[in-house]
Amino acid sequence: MTTQPIAVLKPIMKPLVVKKLETWFLKHQRDLPWRQDQDPYKVWISETMLQQTTSQAVIGYFQRFLKRFPSLKSLSESSIEEVYEMWAGLGYYSRARNLHKAAMELYKDGGFNNQSYKDLIKYPGFGPYTSRSLSSIAFEEPVGVLDGNVIRVLSRYHNFKAQWWKTTDKNKLQELSDQSVQGFSSRVINQALMELGATICTPTNPKCLICPVSSSCKAFKAQTQEELPLKKPKKQHKLIYLNFYIYKQNNQLALEKNSTSPFLKGQLLPPHDISEPAAKPKEFDFQHSITHYKIFVKINKVKSKPQKTQLYPIKDIKKLTPSSLVDKILKNY
Ligand code: SF4
Repeated sequence: MTTQPIAVLKPIMKPLVVKKLETWFLKHQRDLPWRQDQDPYKVWISETMLQQTTSQAVIGYFQRFLKRFPSLKSLSESSIEEVYEMWAGLGYYSRARNLHKAAMELYKDGGFNNQSYKDLIKYPGFGPYTSRSLSSIAFEEPVGVLDGNVIRVLSRYHNFKAQWWKTTDKNKLQELSDQSVQGFSSRVINQALMELGATICTPTNPKCLICPVSSSCKAFKAQTQEELPLKKPKKQHKLIYLNFYIYKQNNQLALEKNSTSPFLKGQLLPPHDISEPAAKPKEFDFQHSITHYKIFVKINKVKSKPQKTQLYPIKDIKKLTPSSLVDKILKNY
């Protein structure tokens, strides 16, 4: 595969090419509920939900969430249990926790007010992507964004063999993204790059023949589209064995705040102990996965309420602890 070092990539996407991208986006963008206006609160909620989740899966959650929490004020005044209830099923629950914490802090600081990404990044859950997407889409700050879609488009457009998971190459891609919005509406160009990655420059079978930037795309010219972006080396699965102690009484379940396991931190779970087996254990009731953890679960029924636990109605479990792990425990009980 022939790829180019970053030094020879300049001039980056030429204004004529960015113009083509802009025209294409304005004509072909999908009609998504968060694109109806640029209200910063709605942009924030959608951008947070869209991390690790497809647009199609987010639509229903986004609409229900805004119905329940129509403003920053209403979200800041809610309880974390109410937020979990609206988030149940979306996964990556730290996003919900951070959203809730950030809403309280932002509301206390006077709400959204034309902040730059550097102002926003100090709030919980605001990484470089969320800060930049919010400040550009809602406030037109001239900064580029870098998510999986943009990384794919830029790596291919420049035929750049980037190790995008490493800081140096990620910074180079960020620079390319920043440069592509200069002289244009960052709100439009950032969304256009993400839309191109989601609908045309897809991970497999990119539709180069109908792509608005194909005439100057270096990967298309070199026919290296399918090889880019490079694949991040896979993280080894970590094996975890969880021994749960289940106590039920009158349709109530004994739970405690998890401070034992490295995942689902702070969430209500039945008490348990944890070990890290070297190989798949012989005896377990079911298997579960959370990020790179392969979890083997053993259920032990106990006759008396474990210390430090409290009883919670089973019908409220989804609200209290939205991870499907507790659901599975109850099904296997
Ligand atoms: S021409 Fe193909 S590889 Fe290049 S940006 Fe368009 S869809 Fe992606």
